[in-house]
Amino acid sequence: MNIGFIGLGNMGGGMAANVLRAGHALTVHDLRRDAATPLLESGAAWADTPAELAVASDIVLTSLPGPREVEAIALGEGGILEGIGEGGVYIDLSTSSPTLIRSIAERFADKGVSVLDAPVSGGPVGARTGRLAVMVGGDRTVYERVKPALDAIGDKVSYIGGIGSGCVAKLMHNCIGYGLQTIVAECLTLGVKAGVEPGPLFEAISNGSVGRGSSFANTYPNTYLAGNFDPPSFALRLAHKDVSLALELAREYGVPMSVGNIAHQELTAALNRGWADQDSRIAMRLQEERAGNIEVRIENPDAHAQNA
Ligand code: NAD
Repeated sequence: MNIGFIGLGNMGGGMAANVLRAGHALTVHDLRRDAATPLLESGAAWADTPAELAVASDIVLTSLPGPREVEAIALGEGGILEGIGEGGVYIDLSTSSPTLIRSIAERFADKGVSVLDAPVSGGPVGARTGRLAVMVGGDRTVYERVKPALDAIGDKVSYIGGIGSGCVAKLMHNCIGYGLQTIVAECLTLGVKAGVEPGPLFEAISNGSVGRGSSFANTYPNTYLAGNFDPPSFALRLAHKDVSLALELAREYGVPMSVGNIAHQELTAALNRGWADQDSRIAMRLQEERAGNIEVRIENPDAHAQNA
């Protein structure tokens, strides 16, 4: 396939190299021409504009900082829409706005061009080594047609749903990551201030169920996502006791715990529903109510669990 790649930064540089390595003909473009040097030395061609690149490509990939750049490169003067031919496919790998990619898809459809959003996760090392999760939104038949190109850049390429779904999934992924980062910072600072050495503290947490990632591998699929809270694998009253003790320690040592206190309030409110002896993950149902009675249930959770 003739593939065009725009945006050769920390992520795009590695992904474009893997596209080339997989045997596709590659044309590249970036604001910084020097970012293309290693690719040009390995046989890629250079295009002066996104439109020129799109003329030479069956599939155009972009890995750009955010919505502003994606909109300009896709729809702006000298952009992809100007050059791409009917039957072509544009795939945005950036972490960007679901609403924007939906409107870009409509504009491209007028020209007979398909659009997918396919944001990635795994960092620059994953981009270089081809170990990326690729979360794809758009038409499923188009996805299946271009999957070989996506397999060149990631080892976990998944179809998520209609156009914009990849971006939604990626934004939820990162928001979870940074929510966790905040509580990790709270608990590591409290642990150290309460007298534990950072190394052993980090080791203990890493070896525990949190560090082993068992929430995503087992616990959520078997409890919350299955709507199964009885019998409990860890009762709400015990979870409430543990978070209460952690917050007592925080008061004793003078460490603010914003996210820890929110978690405690959630568990307290869940206790007041009479859920003490059910599985602690039942507290997640409170947010379902606040979100407007949005139920997050999966018929076959194992099919969607980590490493499925
Ligand atoms: P980066 O800043 O390293 O690379 C962006 C590239 O786009 C640069 O080479 C830049 O010159 C080029 N560029 C910017 N505007 C341009 C334009 N108008 N025309 C042509 N080229 C242009 O960013 P990155 O870390 O590679 O991230 C790219 C995307 O991937 C972002 O959406 C980011 O959120 C996402 N992402 C990043 C990581 C990570 O760990 N870095 C992980 C997953 C996803």
